[in-house]
Formats: sequence, C-alpha cells, structure tokens
Amino acid sequence: MESREDRQKTGLVFNIQKYSVHDGPGIRTTVFLKGCPLSCRWCSNPESQQNCPELAYNPARCLTLNKCTRCLEVCMRNALIRKGDAFLQIAQEYCEGCPMPCADVCPANSLIVYGQERSVDDVLAVVEQDEAFYARSRGGLTISGGEPLFQGDFTVALLREARRRRLKTAVETCGMASPAFVCAAAPLLNNVLFDIKILDDRMHKAQTGGSNVQILENFCILAEKFLNLPLTVRTPIVPGFNDTEETVAAIASFIARYPRVRYELLPYHRLGTQKYNFLDRTPPMGEVKLGKDIMPRLHSVAENVLHDRLRNLQHCKTLSS
Ligand code: SF4
Ligand code: SF4
Repeated sequence: MESREDRQKTGLVFNIQKYSVHDGPGIRTTVFLKGCPLSCRWCSNPESQQNCPELAYNPARCLTLNKCTRCLEVCMRNALIRKGDAFLQIAQEYCEGCPMPCADVCPANSLIVYGQERSVDDVLAVVEQDEAFYARSRGGLTISGGEPLFQGDFTVALLREARRRRLKTAVETCGMASPAFVCAAAPLLNNVLFDIKILDDRMHKAQTGGSNVQILENFCILAEKFLNLPLTVRTPIVPGFNDTEETVAAIASFIARYPRVRYELLPYHRLGTQKYNFLDRTPPMGEVKLGKDIMPRLHSVAENVLHDRLRNLQHCKTLSS
C-alpha cells in the first residue's frame, strides 16, 4: 500500500489523549476510535460503543435557557427539548447524520460531539508532537477505543504509516475482531494489550453481549504465530461477574501455556459514570463497587498459577538437559 493512500484514509476518532502512562510502555499518545462489537456492562467509555458521531450534553456548563438559546435557534430538526425551566434533553434519534451546528454555536462547550472523521495524516500530526517524550521513555502511539480493529482498514493504515515514521505502536483490544485484521495489524505492532474477561462463554455473552470464542481464537493466533510480539493479557475485575478466585485461576491457567505472555488484573472503576449522564444513559452497573480486599487476593491467585508455570518449565528443562 502506498504511503499517500494510507495517509489519506479516514476514521471516526473520539479522543486523542496525550501523556498516557497506562496504555503500554513509556509515555504514549492514545488515539480512541469509535465502534465496538461488544457492549460490556462496565464499559467506562460509553461514547466509544456506537460507530457514529454522538451528541452529548453537560448541563453543569449550560448557561441555561433563561440566558441563551443559541442551540435551539440552529437546530432544524427539533431535536432539543426543554427539560424543566432551563435545561435541555436531546432526542438523539433526530441527530443522526446532522452536521451538529448546535455544538459549534454553544458558547459554553455544554454540547459535546463524540466522534470526528479524521485522516491518518491529521492523527499522526498530533501524535508526532510528543516524539521527544517517546524517545526518552520508549513510548509511542497506542490505538484504543471502542475496539481499534472494528475500523480495521483505518487502524491498519494508521499503524503502517506510524511505523514508516518510526513510531512505536500498540493496541488495546477486546479481541473481538476479524482474524484477517488481527493478522494484518500484528506485524505492525510493538505491543498488544489483549482483554480476556472470562472463559465461561455463557457468562461472557450475558455481560458483554458477545461470545468469547472468536476472542480466544484471536488470542491463540497472536500467541502462536507472532512469537516476537510482546503480548499482555488484561482482565478487568468486575464485581459480581469475574471477581472470583476460580475465574482468575482459569484465565491464568489458560495463558500459562504461553510463557512469554504477561498477565495484568485491572480493578473496576466508575470513572465513566459522568459520560453516561451526558449521553442521557443509565450506567448499567449502578452504584456497585469492588470490595477492598479482592484485588490483592486475586493478584496472589494469578501469581501462584503463573509461578507454578515457571517452576514446571524449569523442571522440564532440567529433565531434558
Ligand atoms: S445535532 Fe443537529 S439535530 Fe441534533 S440537536 Fe444538534 S442541531 Fe439538532
Ligand atoms: S447553546 Fe450551549 S449554553 Fe446555550 S443553551 Fe444551548 S447548550 Fe446551553
């Protein structure tokens, strides 16, 4: 593929976050793409799930309809409804395909557009602003979402052009993607952060809206075919779903057959709650929180399983030498 063709390719991006330190090695710029085939109940990026631009409303910033009606004046579809005396509610179904002039005229940034069509060139111009930090910290570009491979053509073009520019690359993936895109992206990556949430497919379907069969197959493709690609499996620990010793031990045992794969547990948090409110959606997890003692307990379960793996490997080596 020609560089010019890749550079002009566009995708739907909802955020570019600089100085990320949890999305791969070193200091990184994380590019968040719209669209995900799953709809996990604990998703902290609800604005990432749909593969189209979405309008959101932050009432705390609104000047109120007593002082400002600019958005009402430009909306040609009657999608903005008065809520009480001074505030708004968005009838999202009318906004589809609208160029969203309401957000442009809002003087308070109270109306937020999640999702903008951006080119590879445009995205990399932002990423390259921090090249000096990447060089010192071994950081680079991370593509996240949503599911980065949901917009597979764009993600592959972005990775290919990033590598042409000698940027280090990573993806954060839920693993639910076409194997063709997985195999196209893998040689262009320096790191993969791969979610495995639970092995029980029935539970997976119930809480994420999708089966994990393809996810586990894609993990095996990466682990078995791309032997030089650093691979980290991550499990978000979610109360009432996978916060048990058996679940974590099962995942750790599953990945234990691949000695080079790292394993991390991530605690559930409620940082996405405000964005659910802006989108006028109810957070599916409600007020539930993770118990304080759970993470240390699950960490030691995972460590024990993976430590046993190392011991067994050393034992096998001793026997064969
Ligand atoms: S996005 Fe368009 S249809 Fe929706 S509220 Fe704004 S101007 Fe109206
Ligand atoms: S334009 Fe912005 S500040 Fe004015 S009423 Fe609409 S949302 Fe509120």
